[in-house]
Amino acid sequence: MHLTIRARLTLLYFVVLATSFVAFFWICDFGFRRSIEITVNDASRSNLETVRRVIEGSLPRGLPKVQKELGELAGLWANGAIFEVSGPDGQWIFRPPRFQAVQTLLPEAPASGISFLTTNLEALQYRIARERVSISGSVFLIDAAVPTEPFDQALDGFRLIEKRFLPLLVMLASLLGYWLSGRALAPVNRIVESAESIGVQNLSRRLEVPRANDELRRLTETVNAMLGRIESSVAHITQFTADASHDLRTPLALIRTNAELALRRPRREDEYRETLRRILAAAEESTHLIEHLLTLARADAGAAQLHFEAADLSQVLRKVSQHARILAQSKGLGFKEEIDDEPLPISMDPSAMERLFLALLDNAVKYTPEGTLSLRSFSREGQAIVEVQDTGVGISESDLPHIFDRFYRADQARSREVRGSGLGLAIARWIAEMHKGAIEVDSELGRGSLFRVHLPPLNREHPLALTPEWQKTTANSAI
Ligand code: ADP
Repeated sequence: MHLTIRARLTLLYFVVLATSFVAFFWICDFGFRRSIEITVNDASRSNLETVRRVIEGSLPRGLPKVQKELGELAGLWANGAIFEVSGPDGQWIFRPPRFQAVQTLLPEAPASGISFLTTNLEALQYRIARERVSISGSVFLIDAAVPTEPFDQALDGFRLIEKRFLPLLVMLASLLGYWLSGRALAPVNRIVESAESIGVQNLSRRLEVPRANDELRRLTETVNAMLGRIESSVAHITQFTADASHDLRTPLALIRTNAELALRRPRREDEYRETLRRILAAAEESTHLIEHLLTLARADAGAAQLHFEAADLSQVLRKVSQHARILAQSKGLGFKEEIDDEPLPISMDPSAMERLFLALLDNAVKYTPEGTLSLRSFSREGQAIVEVQDTGVGISESDLPHIFDRFYRADQARSREVRGSGLGLAIARWIAEMHKGAIEVDSELGRGSLFRVHLPPLNREHPLALTPEWQKTTANSAI
């Protein structure tokens, strides 16, 4: 059964209060009965004492005197208390007519001490104190009885109150519980209502934070913080989509314009060739951009799968450096390579690692009009470190904090019309982070840049196994 919190709280109030009230009334009832018993016992005992004193006082003057005195005493008792006395030979000394039937019903009196019992006489209940007393050598049996009716009436009155008020109290308490739980949960309902009114269109809205420093305040603050994170993610995605569409439009427009121009009138073969070459370059650029976008989208969705294995970083770097050398030479740049002869074992996805260093080296070539590039690797304090340095245009201090942002391209880069999407470094950083590493950059405008990649050492659980398969995997992995 799925009850609302309010219903559960009310039920809890009901059960707790009903149990408490029943227990309370039961204890009162028990106490009341106990105190009635003590009171009537005391009253009958004290009556018995009075009868004994009267017998003691009048016995020296003979039994008839005793009977007379007892008769007078019985006349004095107004509250319905009665008594009977039998003499040493079992004969009745005094006996009120209403009490006659009792004798046969009563059990034998104990040899000494007072015994108490309850009996009914003519539809009335009595509490009887009975004692066998020895006065001046003669044994008398005294029964002194007190009617319990007034006490029973008081008890009945109390029980009537119990019967009438207990359900009423429990009902009132449950209603109070219902009201209290409603009040306690009202802020939760307000939170639910405001949360329901927040959608993608009004993500900047926040829930009202309650003033009391309680659990609900924490809940509201947590939800608000979560909304903040969602808002910035959505803004990020919107910006990403806008930038991606913008950057995709450029090569597509180029393809279209080139094709349209070529088709306007008949052209020579070399002119067609030139147009097709430009169209191909633009198509390649958009393919490149789409690949980058796909990588980042998969990374964001957590769907990008990297396949980690124990591999030698030096070997990956040597492979990448061959490509970089060709790129540099084609642009007339020098290329220096200082790769550690020792294997640099780390846990990595070799193709992702190649992509990371190719991105850095590609940038070094792109943003260096003349000069030399260098690729260095070494290990320091157990970490593998790779440096890619150039003597190119450098990055201004204001651009430095943003170059790893998606679609960010420093002004000089754009103005010099160097091809690029502004996604390469974002992907490079993501790859480094997936390897629990980091990229840092030192750069000065006009003097060149140094990108330094730190990678953690091989995990002890994956000791580097320099097996032929491993070497094959590293050598064959695609760029
Ligand atoms: P892009 O496709 O524009 O090269 P990246 O994400 O690789 O995108 O780089 C972002 C920006 O960082 C570049 O547009 C450029 O302004 C700057 N940058 C990156 N590497 C270098 C470098 N080696 N020298 C100077 N500027 C660089």
